[in-house]
Amino acid sequence: MDIIINSLYSNKDIFLRELISNASDALDKIRFLSLTDKEILGEGDNAKLDIQIKLDKEKKILSIRDRGIGMTKEDLIKNLGTIAKSGTSAFVEKMQTSGDLNLIGQFGVGFYSVYLVADYVEVISKHNDDKQYVWESKADGAFAISEDVWNEPLGRGTEIRLHLREEAGEYLEEAKLKELVKRYSEFINFPIYLWASKEVDVEVPADEDESSDEEETSDSSSSEEEVEDEDAEKKPKSKTVKETTYEWELLNDVKAIWLRNPKEVTEEEYTKFYQSLAKANFKSLGFIAFQNTLLFFWLPKYHSLHRLDNIFYLVQQDFSEEKPLSWSHFTAEGDVEFKAVLFVPPKAPHDLYESYYNTKKSNLKLYVRRVFISDEFDELLPKYLNFLKGLVDSDTLPLNVSREMLQQHSSLKTIKKKLIRKALDMIRKIAEEDPDESNDKDKKDVEKSSDDDEKKGQYAKFWNEFGKSIKLGIIEDASNRNRLAKLLRFESTKSGGKLASLDQYISRMKPGQKDIFYITGSSKEQLEKSPFLERLTKKNYEVIFFTDPVDEYLMQYLMDYEDKKFQNVSKEGLKLGKDSKYKDLKESFKDLTKWWKSALASENVDDVKISVLLSDTPCVVVTSKYGWSANMERIMQSQTL
Ligand code: ADP
Ligand code: MG
Repeated sequence: MDIIINSLYSNKDIFLRELISNASDALDKIRFLSLTDKEILGEGDNAKLDIQIKLDKEKKILSIRDRGIGMTKEDLIKNLGTIAKSGTSAFVEKMQTSGDLNLIGQFGVGFYSVYLVADYVEVISKHNDDKQYVWESKADGAFAISEDVWNEPLGRGTEIRLHLREEAGEYLEEAKLKELVKRYSEFINFPIYLWASKEVDVEVPADEDESSDEEETSDSSSSEEEVEDEDAEKKPKSKTVKETTYEWELLNDVKAIWLRNPKEVTEEEYTKFYQSLAKANFKSLGFIAFQNTLLFFWLPKYHSLHRLDNIFYLVQQDFSEEKPLSWSHFTAEGDVEFKAVLFVPPKAPHDLYESYYNTKKSNLKLYVRRVFISDEFDELLPKYLNFLKGLVDSDTLPLNVSREMLQQHSSLKTIKKKLIRKALDMIRKIAEEDPDESNDKDKKDVEKSSDDDEKKGQYAKFWNEFGKSIKLGIIEDASNRNRLAKLLRFESTKSGGKLASLDQYISRMKPGQKDIFYITGSSKEQLEKSPFLERLTKKNYEVIFFTDPVDEYLMQYLMDYEDKKFQNVSKEGLKLGKDSKYKDLKESFKDLTKWWKSALASENVDDVKISVLLSDTPCVVVTSKYGWSANMERIMQSQTL
């Protein structure tokens, strides 16, 4: 506990977000149960699914109350227990068997952030299946649980009372709490209320004799009141004074953004919503196991802890600055109805491809009729679109079945299909709106809009971050291959250092050119010197450079585009239109090629032929049509080493 409290963590503010998120989880749980059992919610106030925050300035208590599912005595022990009971020991165990630090996220420890601001915490909780209990603990590792005979009955739910530390006085300010809720919890799906003070004008009968006294002692010195007092001198019947009253003030906008009309949602609102989604999966507690000793500490704001062999390092993830590259907000109608918001993040997570084949985690949240179901539902998007963030709210899926059954539900397939289409449309639009992308000179007179500058270079940015995902998509998703191929970008002998698309390539093809030429290798610089390009560049053909290892696999799946075949120029079978001299050359060098072939061991060489490819280099070794290219050999070798 001491380590946590006197920790590296500079941001105490997060405790409120953690408590609100726990309250929201508890409310989700009860709402979910109530869908199949209406009775469970009870009546009156009990049925109100909200979160209430209250301050007691004198006693320095901040309390947060929800009408969620509550905790039984056993739950209190199991879930809040001691820090060693909760995530920590389970984490150490797992860590010893798997050595995987990424597991941290699975161990809930958010609750303990209360001790950043409080030195004594009471948790009062009532679950439908048990009596009301109080859990209490000072930040000393011990806790006590007793049946609650002191407090008012909660009906159902949980109230957390933080006895704030001396130095945490700022959390007794209403303005501070309002700011925190706005910042961290704006998109919580339940209303969050603050018991807020309000100055109101109250009419009180004026007492003639005393009113002059008051002026002299200048108890109330506001000039407005003085003016009123002057009036009061003439007609001394009543006067207005300020009085403080309290009422529940709603702090968040509960109308979920995805339910609103896209035309009415501003860019800023989308950005905030994106940030609230992005933040949801950051981890707040770090652990380091060092020579059988476990050290744990709070991570600085938006950092995550990573491990490379025995070196631990922090990666900063400042989501508060992140603006999504693009988004798509739509409603699907028909036999499968759902609403969705998809975002392209500005940056790929550093391990997006590292763990591509091992993890299946998608970043979409699934809701069914406004009820949160899961954010680990992998059937919504194919793996190659895992980089997208967002949310799907379905009206068609059944709520009251297990997740396993839900996975097999037939509408899920339709949802997936539509989501892919919309995602690819959204990516295509980034390119369409990017002025850097159109090399169309005729478009010059098109009005230059103010967001042209903002959209400039966006697709290149997208491509640098997520290009590999598009390539993996071409490999994995046959039914969308052509759509994905449209999104493909590359450099070529004619792209002039910029990115080009297949459509641009086709528009630049020479008359009579049938195939799309490409060459694979480890770098553009290396490929530019390749003898395979000599003749082609001299004859002004464009050749695509594929320099990513995944490109070799890609080209095994991408056979053609818009009726044009792909031709690797380092492979056999390249034809550059009719060459009248070719037949004659073939004939006159017949003896040489024959001799040459027999001189080389036949298991090493398939054939020796006259080539039309070269202009300066005397000879070159090419790969047979169905064999591995030299580059592929190189990749395979580096993988088996
Ligand atoms: P996490 O939320 O990641 O599980 P926490 O440390 O925030 O981790 O909370 C630990 C557990 O305590 C929760 O999983 C939940 O079971 C229980 N809990 C915390 N707050 C509440 C609450 N307000 N109502 C019901 N259960 C709660
Ligand atoms: Mg939590």
